[in-house]
Amino acid sequence: MSLLQIAEPNQSTKPHEHRYGIGIDLGTTRSLVAVVRSSKAQIIEANNPEDTLLPSVVYYPKSGSPIVGHDALQYRSEDSASTIISAKRFMGRSQADIKFSHPYALSGDANAMPTFVTAQGDISPVGVSAQILNTLYQRAISALPEDSIAGAVITVPAYFDEAQRQATKDAATAAGINVLRLLNEPTAAAIAYGLDRASEDSSSAQKTHYYLIYDLGGGTFDVSILKLTDGVFEVLATGGNSALGGDDIDRLIANWLIKQSGHSPSNISSHDKSELARQAKRYKQQLSDHEQVEVEVTINGQSWQGKLSQTDLTAITEPVSRRTLQVCDQVLRDAGLDKSALNEVILVGGSTRMPVIQELVADFFATQPLCRHNPDEVVALGAAQAAHQLVNGSDDSMLLLDVTPLSLGLETMGGLVEVIIPRNTPIPVKKRQVFTTYQDGQTGMVIHVVQGERETVADCRTLGRFELFGIPPMKAGFARIEVTFSIDANGQLTVSAQETTTGTNSQIEISPAYGLSDEQKEQLLLAGFKFAEQDKQARSLIETKVEAEREVLALESALKDFASLLSEAEIEALKQNIQAVKDAISSDDQASIDQAQAELKPGSDAFAVRIMDLSIKSTMAGTKAEDW
Ligand code: ADP
Ligand code: MG
Repeated sequence: MSLLQIAEPNQSTKPHEHRYGIGIDLGTTRSLVAVVRSSKAQIIEANNPEDTLLPSVVYYPKSGSPIVGHDALQYRSEDSASTIISAKRFMGRSQADIKFSHPYALSGDANAMPTFVTAQGDISPVGVSAQILNTLYQRAISALPEDSIAGAVITVPAYFDEAQRQATKDAATAAGINVLRLLNEPTAAAIAYGLDRASEDSSSAQKTHYYLIYDLGGGTFDVSILKLTDGVFEVLATGGNSALGGDDIDRLIANWLIKQSGHSPSNISSHDKSELARQAKRYKQQLSDHEQVEVEVTINGQSWQGKLSQTDLTAITEPVSRRTLQVCDQVLRDAGLDKSALNEVILVGGSTRMPVIQELVADFFATQPLCRHNPDEVVALGAAQAAHQLVNGSDDSMLLLDVTPLSLGLETMGGLVEVIIPRNTPIPVKKRQVFTTYQDGQTGMVIHVVQGERETVADCRTLGRFELFGIPPMKAGFARIEVTFSIDANGQLTVSAQETTTGTNSQIEISPAYGLSDEQKEQLLLAGFKFAEQDKQARSLIETKVEAEREVLALESALKDFASLLSEAEIEALKQNIQAVKDAISSDDQASIDQAQAELKPGSDAFAVRIMDLSIKSTMAGTKAEDW
């Protein structure tokens, strides 16, 4: 006879109860949920197979509950204002940030996250994401034993800023989900391939591993380089294009079909165009498993039949392919790595199922990229593994770090930017730099904090400004103002300034990327490269001017204090040369400034020598040098 079991007080009455952590990939176009069961990460399927990779679409009808996923898609053309697609692009963005085109009526304050005006009223992007998350959560709940879900790991793009991450967390909370952690999508992909354990592998002598994640989804392209050391992932660099993806390929194929059938893209109704894009997507996906497909389309009432081959597709997708490789180059440069330093290249995103893209990547990196897992499932699988580790094991080795998306710096003389924290610096980070005063007796200074890749403040974005007062009056160049930039693990930037002789200090807190759209980030980055040469010249002119102005100020001040050391004629000559430098400065001409400065130099050097002699004499006579 077996004995009856009795549980200890306050302990579960189900002794073998297992706790699950689920992984959710909340995608721009498609979302999915996975879980580790019997030691294996698996996608949790939907009743309707078309919803397993759940289209990230929610339709808000006038009455009744919102419709999520595949069934919502059909309302896209008949009620586009109430059918919300790609809500992820709006997460944590203000209306002022939303520069991309979209079919929605938005309402709300320009500086806050907008709401979509739908048949069911105003719905926030967080609300839309919450619907999608809840649909996936309910699916997991019905697939797993009752009350067994401890929480979820939800993935976000590596470049998501604090506002976008917070919006994602808010959506999960609204969906009733306990968020174990937000995880960067590329890191999740690396975890799915078990790469987090690569450095533990004793057979490998290599301590540091580098991975590049190439993620081509529906409407976005992201590249990230991860560095793994002792089981710790660090995002070394990220880059991408928030308006490049499979949808563009669909449009290119649609245009090809229009041209092949003898029509002109400008004469096609928007209805025909969207119908063609839908068909193009289907043909594209079929081509991922076939060398060639038969196509049949109706354009302007005329039907056309033909063939679409891999070779055609290679040519059609060339503009997209080329742009993705440019981004890869840039990200490698940012990370300071050569292609050959990469241990693995990982394919992520539905569009990397295309043989054309797989070959492109293999050729470019001269290595076979990892795509054992379905590229559109790999992020969710990795998230599920991370969730499993967080719930079931104390795997604190999986530390995940972020980087700053844009350079941070401050304004110096002449409107130039001094970069303090270059972009793609891993956070948390703290950096100091010492500055000094520009004028004699200066007692305050403005600390103007900017973000961007250009050399001048006018071309960057202002993050904040504050003033430091109470600098003790000294000769120009004598005060020491230490400015510290520190970014904590949440991306919060604090800038502080301190005058070190007196300890006078002042500081502000800034969220570096708040309110900055991906497009703006891209523009700021692109501008930095496009204008690099021009900026260098502008910088050199400004630096020359600032230096010349400083010299003039110092000389004028010395002339006031030490006129007795010079003859009338010497004073007159110096004054004339100073005036010539001033004129040259206002002419904005580098060569004239250089020349005027060269002419001033002998006189000013001779003057400096006499002042120096006097200083030595007075020091020996017991007068302190600082007194003059
Ligand atoms: P996201 O992460 O942006 O939500 P996904 O990674 O799910 O997007 O990718 C969606 C894209 O993948 C769409 O453009 C879709 O057409 C494309 N896609 C899905 N399956 C295939 C396939 N078998 N062949 C080619 N493209 C595909
Ligand atoms: Mg994705």
